[in-house]
Amino acid sequence: METITSRTVCLNAQAPDKATAIQIAGQMLVDAGYIEPGYIDSFAKREAVANTLLGAGVAIPHGMVDDRHLIRATGVAVVQVRDGVQWKEGESARLVVAIAAQSDEHIALLRRLTRLMQHPGGIDRLVTTDDPQLIVSALGDAPTESAFPAPAVLEWPADAEQTWTVDYPNGLHARPATRWVETARRFGCELRVFKGGEFADARALTGLLSLGITHGTEIRFAARGMQAESAVAAMVSLAQTLSAEEKADAERAKRNALAARRLAPEWTPAGTPQTFYGLGASPGLAVGTLVKHQARRLDVCDEPTDVIADGESLERAILAVDTDLQTLGADAQARLGAAQGAIFNAHRELLKDADLLRGAIALILRGHGPAWAWQQVLLGRIQGLQALGDPLLAARATDLRDVGEQVLERLLGLQRQRLVLTTPTILVAEDLTPSDTLQLDMRFIVGLAISGGGPTSHTAILARTLGLPAIVAAGPALLETADGRRAVIDGSSGALYVDIAAGDLESAERVIARQRAAREALRELRHQPAMTPDGHRVEIAANVANAKQAEGAVEAGAEAIGLMRTEFLFLERDTAPDEEEQYKVYRDMVAVMAGRPLIIRTLDIGGDKQVPYLNLTKEENPFLGVRGARLLLVRQDLLYTQLRALYRAAKHGPIKIMFPMVTHTGEVEALRVHCARARAQVDGPVVPIGIMVEVPAVAVMADRFAPLVDFFSIGTNDLTQYTLAIDRQHPELAAQADSLHPAVLELIGNTVRAARAHQTWVGVCGGLAGDPLGARILTGLGVDELSMSAQDIAAVKAALRAENYTAMQALAKRALACTTAEEVRAL
Ligand code: PEP
Ligand code: MG
Repeated sequence: METITSRTVCLNAQAPDKATAIQIAGQMLVDAGYIEPGYIDSFAKREAVANTLLGAGVAIPHGMVDDRHLIRATGVAVVQVRDGVQWKEGESARLVVAIAAQSDEHIALLRRLTRLMQHPGGIDRLVTTDDPQLIVSALGDAPTESAFPAPAVLEWPADAEQTWTVDYPNGLHARPATRWVETARRFGCELRVFKGGEFADARALTGLLSLGITHGTEIRFAARGMQAESAVAAMVSLAQTLSAEEKADAERAKRNALAARRLAPEWTPAGTPQTFYGLGASPGLAVGTLVKHQARRLDVCDEPTDVIADGESLERAILAVDTDLQTLGADAQARLGAAQGAIFNAHRELLKDADLLRGAIALILRGHGPAWAWQQVLLGRIQGLQALGDPLLAARATDLRDVGEQVLERLLGLQRQRLVLTTPTILVAEDLTPSDTLQLDMRFIVGLAISGGGPTSHTAILARTLGLPAIVAAGPALLETADGRRAVIDGSSGALYVDIAAGDLESAERVIARQRAAREALRELRHQPAMTPDGHRVEIAANVANAKQAEGAVEAGAEAIGLMRTEFLFLERDTAPDEEEQYKVYRDMVAVMAGRPLIIRTLDIGGDKQVPYLNLTKEENPFLGVRGARLLLVRQDLLYTQLRALYRAAKHGPIKIMFPMVTHTGEVEALRVHCARARAQVDGPVVPIGIMVEVPAVAVMADRFAPLVDFFSIGTNDLTQYTLAIDRQHPELAAQADSLHPAVLELIGNTVRAARAHQTWVGVCGGLAGDPLGARILTGLGVDELSMSAQDIAAVKAALRAENYTAMQALAKRALACTTAEEVRAL
């Protein structure tokens, strides 16, 4: 596809303002099939963070890296505005060249454009022409370079010089080039960038861009005059520093593109409703009424009273919010799980930031009121974080605003308002803070449409946890939609359709009903075994915490219990359960399972699960501390109570004992000795003894562990956290902690190989087992059993029944050859 044709040239456009010019250019790109409509917003987003006026009356609007997946093919649109349109204070653009570039193809365009700019009358010709073809041939793919050759290299002896090969995946485009120019201008010497036989003054943006420097080009920084050495060193150092940013940008764009490609629309309207495009953050289709969740504006007056009293009321407000956060955290943990609870602990840490308090106190001492002082310091910090342009830090800014405003509300004596919902609702918001989400009545919310945020934001994670369709980064225009309109949200393709026709509404509801029926149909077959068409059977088990859940799991199709987490017996009470109490619990489990396989894991306290009454030492890094088997080996009172109870229960039916968080072979040897002793004490039967494979060291050396155990069960949750060095509860990194990362798969593959060589049985009880794609890959890797949450069983069984074992083996092989989790998911 050519990057520019006469279809994407608009001559003598009437554009009263920049937004109109961008809209004209964007629409031409949409109509010609280069971009999705959502990319037009991306042009505006870019202008909000960086003005794209290049100089000489030329502007080059382009979108954000994160939106690049909305580009179908690299394309350029040109809007000729003969009277000029104000692009920045006091400067106009007469030629608007909108660029939608998938990678570095636009470097050639920039080269042609900047050459024209350097040539007297070059741009004027394009601004006044009535022939679109002239613009196409000047800026299009056919080379025109000989028309305006770059300055030739004459003899130019330098005082200092250094070569560097450009490794920016998208070449030297406007953003990094601007940074080069800024650095070059700090020095008084002559500074040039040479590329082959051409050169440019490093202080001139157009000159640099006109070199058309693409990825892999060798260039030379050369300087002459005072500080020549330092100037060259500074340029090389900056160029190299920017490499990391450029590579990260390109990587992100690739990830987004993969994510976008992975999720096809679940439904498309026949009519043409108003459509907002964002990023799919949580899949699913839902129909609902739009309700806007307004971030509250807090009007703060500067009302100082007494310095001491003001300081104290600020301190009291902070302490009160800290207590609120503690309560909210406990509530979130109970309702939504540990990861959600952890967010509030992170918020408490934000409040402890001494600089914030110091800054506010300093303002109070200078005679300002506490609310005003706190707001000033808070806004300063939020803007500072947002200005860095880093999505992770921007999410931090949302968190800081959330907690900071709670302090303000306390200072102002305000109550948070609750949205009262009564019908199925698609909630529209700029972003939702964690405390917002806890205030919402989730019974009525069927989808979330967020104008800001990103796929890893708190809202996205929350939506996935709750199984709600969600889109994020849908652009500010979304917030202009009126409340009460009927809409369809597609969390897979990232679209929100508003004011849909009655026919479309019916068809969306039909698709939703079909999806529900498909889920039901899967449920019907839940008791059929996971037998592949070519006759390979995988045992499907469930992860549970008690006998009641085990009953539910069997009802949901579980053939076994692959993991009973006994630590839940120890949580939320004041003393540890004694041997008798534990014995009864395990005996009940045996009874429910009625002879089916049952793996009971010994206490896994430490990490995210803490028990106050055990008086364990507080650790800086509990996930890397005395956790699981490490704790049992030092607290043999706990170990023996549990082992004796288990061996007594084993007299009533089959039990396997499993130890968590094992790292060394010596631990297994010691645990086996303790098992033998406990068994002898209660005269129990011999039971298989296995370990969880959660620490990479065990997976790597599985061949040395296999002879010591009767079985392995791979805990992919922890194995992923320890392999990728990502805290499994980290709210921002959670999405990156993907167990399909090839490094994790490699470790699983190695464990299975070692187990095979020693005829040892191997299961997987981490979250990956419950993901249909994960389950297929794990089966392909040769795992014998998959243990998961009861609600995942029907879908996983269906996925395994639908494909030959040989195909899954081939899939696993391809997954192992991938480089990223995204590539694996794209398989
Ligand atoms: C795991 O780590 O994958 C696992 C199953 O154990 P838990 O989630 O209880 O740590
Ligand atoms: Mg674990």
